Amino acid sequence: MISVQEAEKIILEQATGYGTTDLPFEQALGHVLAADILADRDLPPCNRSTMDGIAISFNAFLDGIRSFAITAVQAASDEPVILSAPGDCIEIMTGAAIAAPADTVIRYEDISIQNGVAILQTDAVRQGQNIHEQGADKKAGEVIVSAPAIITPAIIGAAAFTGYTRLAVKKQPSVMLFSNGDELMEVSETPPSYKIRRSNTYALAAALRPHSLLAGNRHLPDEEEAIEQAIGEALNKYDVIMMSGGVSMGKYDLVAKVLEKLSVRPLFHKVKQRPGKPFWFGVHEQGATVFAFPGNPVSAFMCFHRYFLPWYRASMGIANKQCYAMLAADITFMPPLQYFLQVRLQLGATGQLLATPVEGNGSGDLASMTVADAFMELPLELDNFKKGDVYPIWPVRPIFI
Ligand code: AMP
Ligand code: MG
Repeated sequence: MISVQEAEKIILEQATGYGTTDLPFEQALGHVLAADILADRDLPPCNRSTMDGIAISFNAFLDGIRSFAITAVQAASDEPVILSAPGDCIEIMTGAAIAAPADTVIRYEDISIQNGVAILQTDAVRQGQNIHEQGADKKAGEVIVSAPAIITPAIIGAAAFTGYTRLAVKKQPSVMLFSNGDELMEVSETPPSYKIRRSNTYALAAALRPHSLLAGNRHLPDEEEAIEQAIGEALNKYDVIMMSGGVSMGKYDLVAKVLEKLSVRPLFHKVKQRPGKPFWFGVHEQGATVFAFPGNPVSAFMCFHRYFLPWYRASMGIANKQCYAMLAADITFMPPLQYFLQVRLQLGATGQLLATPVEGNGSGDLASMTVADAFMELPLELDNFKKGDVYPIWPVRPIFI
């Protein structure tokens, strides 16, 4: 049995790229940007007013002029109007372009208008005030978003703004999810007391969605030939096979045996951890990566976040940033296994992320899973963990939404 750190190292060594492709920008949320987004022109593309008011030439103000004849009204959509005389001004709306000799905007609050003349009500006027200068944000050709980056709503906005109708993205692995076990029934069915509904593939498919990863989803019985046929087909079709169930020591745990028969090279079976001890990981000779998680819902969910997501990010060239939190209660855990404690997270008044242990009944307790925000990874070598200790966490949902 190997340690969590050894398992992680072996898995990350199998990280691999899948090339690049491109997508309509509206569909790219959650994908990984593969090429920089550049400014197609200066941003902003011209000097623009940041206020509703009048545009003047600052030289006229310096010369002592305080009343300006309004010669035009310019909306944000209009081409810039050129001032013809020093004593003139243009009524100008927020966002409208400003051209020389106009170089200063005075807001409506600081003027009064009588008979087509704007009279200044203030002497505090600076040259260039209330103008967002051409190229102040970015110059044409400058990088707005550096690749690789996970595409966020703000990046979709930047793509739209700069005219990228398509975005270069990293190709994602295709994923097939299998559940396994004769005790499992469909969600729409009413199971007898000795059976349960299958939930793992649905939870895992949902956990893939924020990464824009779509997956096939199929159930397998505890029958060797059926498992062999289904996985055999999937190994030739998908980049990732993600399974749950059938990797423990029971009589009907046939998955590890079948995977090896199908030339999936085992890189490890069993990790010193709770939950998730029976986790099996291997690679097929033709390239597919196989994550065979234990069937207990909390185990499969933990393994997905602790092992699959770091592998996926590494494969996409995205750095894995470790998060930490502070334990908010004492915890004791004696077994010689690395304990992944389910915790609720709360940002404390001092800016420290606090982790409150979730009461639960172990890895089959789906109800406890719904209230946990993260798994906290407690060190293997200790048995007692004190309130105030800081340990790594693996969030299972976005923390700040
Ligand atoms: P196994 O790893 O096959 O021994 O399964 C361990 C436990 O997890 C058993 O109690 C199974 O009934 C349960 N289990 C396995 N697969 C699923 C699944 N897809 N959804 C919910 N529970 C499952
Ligand atoms: Mg089973």
